[in-house]
Amino acid sequence: MAEFQLAIIGGGPAGLTAGIYAGRAELKTVLLERLSPGGQVLTTDWIENYPGFPEGISGFDLIDKMTAQMRKFSTEEKGLEITSIEQVDKKEFLLHSSSGETVSTTAVIISTGAAPNKLGVPGEEEFIGKGVSYCATCDGPFFKDQVVAVIGGGDSAVQEALFLTKIVKKVYLIHRRDKLRAVKWLQERAFANPKIEFIWDTILEKIEGKDGVESIQLLNKKTGQTTHLPVQGVFIFIGTHPNTAFLPDFIKKDPRGFILTDEWMQTSQQGIYAAGDCRAKPLRQIVSAVSEGATAVYGVEHYISELGI
Ligand code: NAP
Repeated sequence: MAEFQLAIIGGGPAGLTAGIYAGRAELKTVLLERLSPGGQVLTTDWIENYPGFPEGISGFDLIDKMTAQMRKFSTEEKGLEITSIEQVDKKEFLLHSSSGETVSTTAVIISTGAAPNKLGVPGEEEFIGKGVSYCATCDGPFFKDQVVAVIGGGDSAVQEALFLTKIVKKVYLIHRRDKLRAVKWLQERAFANPKIEFIWDTILEKIEGKDGVESIQLLNKKTGQTTHLPVQGVFIFIGTHPNTAFLPDFIKKDPRGFILTDEWMQTSQQGIYAAGDCRAKPLRQIVSAVSEGATAVYGVEHYISELGI
C-alpha cells in the first residue's frame, strides 16, 4: 500500500491549486517542491489578468495567498527534487529524489512548469549574474538608471521591458522580426513608453565585457550590418521549455517535451496526471494552470475510487 494517495510534483499555481483541491477532498497528499512554492509566477512583477484582483496583484503576493490557502488544508509539503518515477505495481509509483529520499504514492500530478530558454550565444553563460538575466523582477533593481537590452518579442519580453522602464534609464527591445508576438494591449503600452527603443529584424550574436556586460554585438538580418551597442544588462525572454526531462518514456510528450494529456489531465500512464505550463496546450496563463490543477485532482479522485483504495 502506497504511503500517499497523491503526490504533486511542483508548487506553481497548478500544483498549489491541486494541493488545495486534494486537501479539501481529504486525499492523503504531499506537495513536492525543490525550492519553495512559486515557480515562474514569482518572476512576474504585476498580474492584471487573474480574476478577482481588479487592481492587479504582484506575482509574489498571489503565490503567498495560494500557499496560505493550501496550508489551511491537510496537504503535506516536502522539499524534494524528484529525479525519476518508477512504477511498482498498478497501485503504487515510487518517486526518487536527488537527496535519495523516495516517496510512495498511488497517483501523481506533474506540475513542474517551464524554464526560460537560453540564446546559446558567446558571453551568455559567462555573464549570468553579471549582467545577463532571465528575470527582470529579480534582477532589475541592480540596473538602476542604467541602459539595458531586452531580447524577444513575446508577452514576457514586452511585459518585463515595461517593468524595467520603472528602474532603468533606457531599454532597447531587440526582436528578430519586425512585428511583436505579444498581445496588443502590451504592444500599445510599450510603443507609448518613451524609455523603450525598438530594434527590429535583429539578433544578438555576442555579449561582450570584462567583469560584467559592457556591450552586445547585433546583426541586422535585413541589412547584414553588424553593430556594437553599449548596455550594462541583457534580459533574455525568448520562450520557455518544459521541466520534463526527468520523466520516464512511458509518459508521452510532444516533440518539444510538453506532456500530452486527455481532458481529465491524465497522461499516457494511468494514475499520472499533468497540469500547468509543463502540459502541451495552446494557452499558458495562471488561470489555465489553476483550472488544470483542479481538473487533475478531479481525475485522481475518480482513479483512486475505481481502484477501490
Ligand atoms: P513566447 O510567446 O514563445 O515568445 C518568445 C519570443 O522570443 C518570440 O517573440 C520569439 O520570436 C522570440 N524568440 C524565440 N527564440 C528566439 C531566438 N533564438 N532568438 C531571438 N528571439 C527568439 O514566450 P514568452 O513571451 O515567454 O511567453 C510564454 C507563454 O507565457 C506565452 O503563452 C505567453 O502568452 C504567456 N505569458 C503571458 C503573459 C500575460 O498574459 N501577461 C505574460 C508572460 C507570458 P518570434 O516572435 O519571431 O517567434
